Amino acid sequence: MSAVNLLDFDLEGLAAFCEQLGEKRFRATQLFRWIHQKGATDFEQMSDLAKSLRSKLQGVATLTPLTVISEHVSSDGTIKWLFDVGQGNAIESVYIPEDDRATLCVSSQAGCAVGCRFCSTGHQGFSRNLTTGEITAQLWFAEHTLRKRLGTSDRIISNVVMMGMGEPLQNYNALVPALKTMLDDHGYGLSRRRVTVSTSGVVPMIERLMADCPVALAVSLHAPNDPLRDELVPLNKKYPIAELLDTCRAYLSAAPRDFITFEYCMLDGVNDTPEHAQQLIQLVKGKINCKLNLIPFNPFPQSGLRRSDLARVQQFGRELQDAGIVTTVRKTRGDDIDAACGQLAGEVQDRTNARDRMLRQPVAVKISLPKPGERHRSGH
Ligand code: SAH
Ligand code: SF4
Repeated sequence: MSAVNLLDFDLEGLAAFCEQLGEKRFRATQLFRWIHQKGATDFEQMSDLAKSLRSKLQGVATLTPLTVISEHVSSDGTIKWLFDVGQGNAIESVYIPEDDRATLCVSSQAGCAVGCRFCSTGHQGFSRNLTTGEITAQLWFAEHTLRKRLGTSDRIISNVVMMGMGEPLQNYNALVPALKTMLDDHGYGLSRRRVTVSTSGVVPMIERLMADCPVALAVSLHAPNDPLRDELVPLNKKYPIAELLDTCRAYLSAAPRDFITFEYCMLDGVNDTPEHAQQLIQLVKGKINCKLNLIPFNPFPQSGLRRSDLARVQQFGRELQDAGIVTTVRKTRGDDIDAACGQLAGEVQDRTNARDRMLRQPVAVKISLPKPGERHRSGH
């Protein structure tokens, strides 16, 4: 039997594993606390754990973290880590400190099979799902590395957003135990309101999440009508907007917040006109409790898309606000280290030919291409 990675378990899973070893539940709780609250890397460190259990664990269990390939620190304090997940794949996590919170943006897959037009990960295609251990290990690593660096035993990370590489709800079975570890009082003790799953709209899995582990939900909308959303977020062909909104409404009955966040990536000349704003208002006003989060598009070389200028974003936001829809514009963080939304690219051994597919199917909606010589990267 090969050794199991204890980072793969939520507390229930660890309790079941300990039971197989003939150990009581409170031993599992102790072990779980050593791992997640104290960041232990070695069973010998776990001083209040019975010697007999420590020696039982040797050989049957490991604590295998992720291997760091690189770390980049932005001028605004954002940190991006690139982790090796084997066989030529690498994933990224981003730490975003702010005055009143510190957020970790976590990846769920090596690549992504949804293939959104405006997303760098989407352009890279899909290699594989991460394991629970690989999802949890991103938080474990960031939390305990930063505590050591800052010389504190206080909690550092207050919020987690599943907004790194990958579509979390297409890796549901691995995701849920990782979320449970984040929420567990013996783990990271984060409140449900401070853990956000962001999804491009995998309707049946939103329904399951509602029952299994209702955390805050962000839905990547990006378009106010089906033809445009079909182009930008191909999953829309399977789960069109009306169905998605029905499911979001249902989710609210279990959600830890009384609204759903809709993310809307502002693409110059594609989805940012006053008509789009009006359609969006028609779609949601009085129909669902939501907040709109406008994300200035973060360009990357192959996208062929441009960021809407600030005046456009502000005008769009004003129209929504005037209609009574709470709207925020996401601050772009860490873009000097390519750590902003949609720029996480890691390294993906694509098994889906995404790049070719996207080149063969040019977007039918009107897209203004960058003028020659214009920089793709934004500068703030
Ligand atoms: N797959 C999930 C979560 C990861 S993407 C999802 O799509 O929701 C996290 C957020 O970044 C999503 O709202 C996504 O639409 C947005 N995003 C992707 N590419 C982007 C880009 N180039 N610029 C700005 N936001 C982007
Ligand atoms: Fe996948 Fe989300 Fe990127 Fe779309 S935006 S390709 S769902 S990671």
